[in-house]
Amino acid sequence: YLPVIYGITPTYARLAQKADLTRLSQTLMHIKNLHWVVIEDSAEKTKLVANLLKESNLKYTHLNIKTHKTKQSTPTSIQKVRGIKGVAASGVEQRNLALDWLKGHLQKAEDQRGVVFFMDDDNTYSLKVFDEMRKIKRVGVWPVGIVGGMRVEMPLVTDGKVSGFNAWWKPFRPFPIDMAGFAINATLFLEHPEAKFSRKVQSGFQESEILKYFTTRDELEPLAENCTKVYVWHTRTQKPSIVNPQKLKRPLVSYDH
Ligand code: UDP
Ligand code: MN
Repeated sequence: YLPVIYGITPTYARLAQKADLTRLSQTLMHIKNLHWVVIEDSAEKTKLVANLLKESNLKYTHLNIKTHKTKQSTPTSIQKVRGIKGVAASGVEQRNLALDWLKGHLQKAEDQRGVVFFMDDDNTYSLKVFDEMRKIKRVGVWPVGIVGGMRVEMPLVTDGKVSGFNAWWKPFRPFPIDMAGFAINATLFLEHPEAKFSRKVQSGFQESEILKYFTTRDELEPLAENCTKVYVWHTRTQKPSIVNPQKLKRPLVSYDH
């Protein structure tokens, strides 16, 4: 038997969105028993995402909720220049909406067994990470490549147990793990319906915020060969710069994608 993997992906409109979602959806086409929950950061569902989901033939649920803009989520001008979106975390409202959907879905489901994996839309996922997460009893963890200023951020394992973390960025976090570095048994969300992400925590603490409901550091289940293999990378798609056709001297034919 294969537990269902609930892949939870917030997404927002931008030039590379379709490219990123195409790559991710085509990874997911290789995964058995996967249910993709895609939550648009928008007031309305877009045709772009609706069509992409329909054409993927994946099992999916399409949701939307717009991020509440706060002062914190508006980048300062220097952050804008550096391509930083502001100090507020991305995806909080979207992931929480997905968790609400999940609880309703599981209550009606005949088989409640499953695993929840928070998958950002521009990361890179090896098929192997999905095999690993089906072994989870409560909360499983594994290394994440190219994140937090390191080639690999990973739990350190001694005698089959997590004994520490090699994180460089904010190592004082209760769980210094990236969102891509863990998955959670889905039924735990029914046992702890209050578990959710929060806008009140400082940047980098979202993972700790959700994990604290379910586990402690020493209960974490190390996967990916005792956390010695990298099966997921926190890649980021560069923001493209596109010329403005109105400013060009020669005319250009433009294509809609
Ligand atoms: N995201 C979103 N709204 C935003 C910014 C990001 O829904 O305003 C989504 C994004 O599509 C991704 C996740 O939230 O799935 C994490 O964002 P991002 O990949 O930009 O974060 P980073 O790579 O900087 O950790
Ligand atoms: Mn990302």
